[in-house]
Amino acid sequence: MRMNGYQKENIIRLLSTIKEKSPFYAKKFEGIDVASITTQEEFERLPFTDKGDLREAYPLGLAAVPERDIVRIHSSSGTTGTPVVIPYTRRDVEDWAVIFERCYRMAGVTEADRVQITPGYGLWTAGIGFQAGCERLGAMAIPMGPGNTEKQIRMMKDMKSTVITGTSSYALLLAEEIERRGIRDELYLKKGIIGSERWGDKMRQSIADSLGVDFYDIYGLTEIYGPGIGISCDYRNGIHMWDDYVYFEIIDPETGEVLPDGEPGELVITAFRKEGAPLIRYRTHDLTRIIPGDCPCGSRFPRIDIIMGRTDDMVKVKGVNMFPAHFDEAISLMKGATGEYQVMIDHLEGKDIVTLYFETDVPPESRRALEQEMTALIKSRIGVTVVSKAVDLGYLPRSEKKTNRFFDNRY
Ligand code: ZN
Repeated sequence: MRMNGYQKENIIRLLSTIKEKSPFYAKKFEGIDVASITTQEEFERLPFTDKGDLREAYPLGLAAVPERDIVRIHSSSGTTGTPVVIPYTRRDVEDWAVIFERCYRMAGVTEADRVQITPGYGLWTAGIGFQAGCERLGAMAIPMGPGNTEKQIRMMKDMKSTVITGTSSYALLLAEEIERRGIRDELYLKKGIIGSERWGDKMRQSIADSLGVDFYDIYGLTEIYGPGIGISCDYRNGIHMWDDYVYFEIIDPETGEVLPDGEPGELVITAFRKEGAPLIRYRTHDLTRIIPGDCPCGSRFPRIDIIMGRTDDMVKVKGVNMFPAHFDEAISLMKGATGEYQVMIDHLEGKDIVTLYFETDVPPESRRALEQEMTALIKSRIGVTVVSKAVDLGYLPRSEKKTNRFFDNRY
């Protein structure tokens, strides 16, 4: 994606002083004259920033302002080892609320709405961002935090919540509970603003139906403000990104090369307006692509696709990058496939062979045709020729993690 004038101006300004302001970047860019960078091409030669680098800066080594200007910190959920601490200035906190308000507006939320906030509050950023954006918009925030399904449902009814926000897994849990109790008609929900995670369209639709809401995918990460740097619109064809706050690129995760618009790869973000901890070419490890062209909604903000997975999930076969999400999507389109599948990649007689096992309720005599149809569908949507094998319901092992559906036996 071409950097626009506003982005370029801001990025150049940021780079001109970054080494003086940030000890972290002074070290990272040692020997590079970043202050003289004026073109996108020069910018694209800068080294990436990765999460591991941020850990080394613990506790406050990322700060690019004097410590008295830091008004808040957040920390990304470190399941292992040292956490990452992100300092925010007053303006960073305001900026985040501004873009979060935009997200609500994009989803059609107004001051008349009542927003039930189920993400957590605390070091991890999610809840407080949903709250600040909601209050800035003028809607009523119902700050529940996660868990306590009983109370969630009670408040949802009594407070007449019209918007539910949260992670997809918590939305699923609530949806199942509402379905089980048969109380959908007693609720007032209209919209769901759900953290963008990789999940199949079938699953998404079933949660939306159970809750009786329209779905919006919100995107973000703690290192770059938090959730709220982009959201899907009514057309649900990707996520509009607030490109006046962030600059984003899609790279080949193996080579680091910047990829043309439309091609899937890793999302890399530069947070050029952040004061507390600006990040330059930060690797998100999220897989997506830039969607070329304009959105029918008329928004001028560019779009990325919904997140297809993590870079660790990516598998390259015969020069084609494949992601589990591609298979989720294709299989959800196939009549006769029930959704459960497994992909095996082998190297036999000098060739990569991809075998797709999928469960079906179609009787054995009709499976041959179904397999051929599946192979053609995968070829047209993913660009890879697979060997399709239809199997009985319950034949494949069940797993919590979707990534466990891919087995690369080549190495
Ligand atoms: Zn749109």
